[in-house]
Amino acid sequence: MDCKARVTKSGAILLGSNYTIDGYHKRPIRVVTHAHSDHTKGLGRSARESLLVIATPYTFKFLDVLGYRVPLEKRVELPYGGSMEFDGERVRLLKARHIAGSAQVLVETAEGSYGYTSDFKMPGTPPLKGLDCLVVDATYGSPRLQRRWGEWDALAALMEIIDRFIGEGPVWIYGYHGKLQEVMAQLRLRGVRLEFMADSRTVALARIASEFYGVDVEPLRIYSGDNIDYSAIVFAHMSKVKSYSRRPGIHVRLTGWELRAPAAWAGDRLINVAFSDHATFREIVSYVEEAKPRLVLIDGVRSTDAWFTAKYVEKVLGIPATVSPSQ
Ligand SMILES: [Zn+2]
Repeated sequence: MDCKARVTKSGAILLGSNYTIDGYHKRPIRVVTHAHSDHTKGLGRSARESLLVIATPYTFKFLDVLGYRVPLEKRVELPYGGSMEFDGERVRLLKARHIAGSAQVLVETAEGSYGYTSDFKMPGTPPLKGLDCLVVDATYGSPRLQRRWGEWDALAALMEIIDRFIGEGPVWIYGYHGKLQEVMAQLRLRGVRLEFMADSRTVALARIASEFYGVDVEPLRIYSGDNIDYSAIVFAHMSKVKSYSRRPGIHVRLTGWELRAPAAWAGDRLINVAFSDHATFREIVSYVEEAKPRLVLIDGVRSTDAWFTAKYVEKVLGIPATVSPSQ
């Protein structure tokens, strides 16, 4: 089937003739689905060379805090459901539950309809239905990566850890941008009133995410490195695990790659909590089943076991599927 959708070797998702999504490609319009670094590659070059850069208002706010420079005159902020037409091709951003501001992308042209799920988890991500071609993210693309519990179990495990260890030192929670802020909101929703501390960037993102989720994350204070409060929860980027690990208290890493249990020891005072921002393998399959596209392309750049997912979709759902770029 002729399909105007593909993933380039560098991870740009090309939909229609005009749009490049989450990676640089020589095209008039760049779309950013969310502010994670594997989706903002080449954004500087896109910002210079493309006519327009499209993202949700919250993704632009995140990008600003993270230091990406997109000239105001090139920005097109599309809220969920919002659309824009360029050269006879209409682009629309739709909700994806992943991090604050995350979107799926739909492009409709005279020749066909094309979509990209971007990173997502279920429930909370309405499938893009009945498209000609759907590009699917399969971060956990096979049953060997299937978590056997829900995110509620992981959150419950995290709250138990906080209850048990707070006071022996702070509880340190490590994760990527977006996930930290989501967990802050989730803890507040469940009645955790302890003070949150984080570096200034994480705090700025938390205040944006707080507005996005409609959840007050205060009290929230900037952690400058010396004023350790034993009754606070300190949130830090995953890259800090090593350098902070000797500081007093229990250290918690938020990672969807922990497959043993919702919480499992990973070191002397280090615990992995299996909180993920990506669909499990079964959730990916049920998304595709509900979406029922004519052709599925599994993103071969960002997925694990993409080939397996494609074969599974073909055999079990009877929907033609392949990996893009082809390996
Ligand atoms: Zn992501």
